[in-house]
Amino acid sequence: MPELFRAARAATLVPGSAVINDAAILTSQGKILEVGKFSDLSRAFSGSVTDLGDVFLAPGLINAHNHLELAHLRGKTVADQGFVTWVEDLIRQPIYELDPIKLDQAFSELKRTGTVMVGDIATRFAKDMAGFLQESGLFFTVFTEAIGEKVPGKGFMPRGDFDRGGYSVAGHSLYTCHAQVLQAAKAETRAKGLPFSLHLAEHDDEVAIMAGEPSGFLDLLQARGRLRDFTAPGKRPVQQAHDLGLLDESTLAVHCVKLTDEDVRTVAESGASVCLCPRSNEFINVGRAPWEKLHQAGVNLCLGTDSLASNHDLNLWNEAEYLKQRFHGELSPEDLLAMMTRNPAGALGVDDRLGTLEPGKLAVWSHVPDWLWELFE
Ligand SMILES: [Zn+2]
Repeated sequence: MPELFRAARAATLVPGSAVINDAAILTSQGKILEVGKFSDLSRAFSGSVTDLGDVFLAPGLINAHNHLELAHLRGKTVADQGFVTWVEDLIRQPIYELDPIKLDQAFSELKRTGTVMVGDIATRFAKDMAGFLQESGLFFTVFTEAIGEKVPGKGFMPRGDFDRGGYSVAGHSLYTCHAQVLQAAKAETRAKGLPFSLHLAEHDDEVAIMAGEPSGFLDLLQARGRLRDFTAPGKRPVQQAHDLGLLDESTLAVHCVKLTDEDVRTVAESGASVCLCPRSNEFINVGRAPWEKLHQAGVNLCLGTDSLASNHDLNLWNEAEYLKQRFHGELSPEDLLAMMTRNPAGALGVDDRLGTLEPGKLAVWSHVPDWLWELFE
């Protein structure tokens, strides 16, 4: 049975469209049939009408970068001390103990704050996380994380079919994976037409390790038996990722804090999407990405909270507000909303069902908070 939903306003995020006042969304069997003015859509409609009241609807939010398996570390990690201290602290924590209760709280928080999908990195528990996420009611891509020196014979991804999401592969980083591991991970996603994700240019130690300069973090890794035979490429992280063939339209590069102007051009020309995690960057104290230059260069920008080991909450609206308050120059409310909806839907390859409010998409949406509502006035 078709249902008609009425709301004070709606931003469909369909390119070129304006905000609709006194809006209505006609749905059937979980999908959107039509979006428009209530006066138009109600004229020929005789079924049940749900008046959502004085709310401003936007597409359901997509948190493009998370590590939900660390949900139990909320409030337990050290803030502000830089990346090496943060990692040293993190690996002293029980990072490999999934906590179903904390996970459940995390799912509830995501749903309560408008998120309908997560791009989730799973270092150890890809199968468990996919199972939990399928049960949670969220949509998901679980990125099995490639890390270290070895390419697994059977590939990185577990098998499994889910109606709410699926698996893909992410490289942990340029400095914790051998080059051939990253290339094999990228090749596996390319062969299956899936998105690939990579933490890229997050902090100064990454730049130093790539350049072959002294780095406390490489010392730490090698003391733990990792990357003993690592040879520095003598390049900047973005250049190295590009030269390894890791950057293209199906790559989601996460963080991109340490970028030169040339790096921004390289990323933009590659067609890769970038997931900004501004509050995580502040939490760890690594600096902030050149948001304005990336935006100006036309990069497909997404937003992620990153994990609760480097953020205070999973509320993506808070991520957007943080970015908006510190952004220099023009960033329209539509562009900001797109970073949490249309852009990540494209980056994660789910734009056939999420990302905008238009016919054929799933009937899921979020409520724009007051501070952002005001920016549309
Ligand atoms: Zn991350």
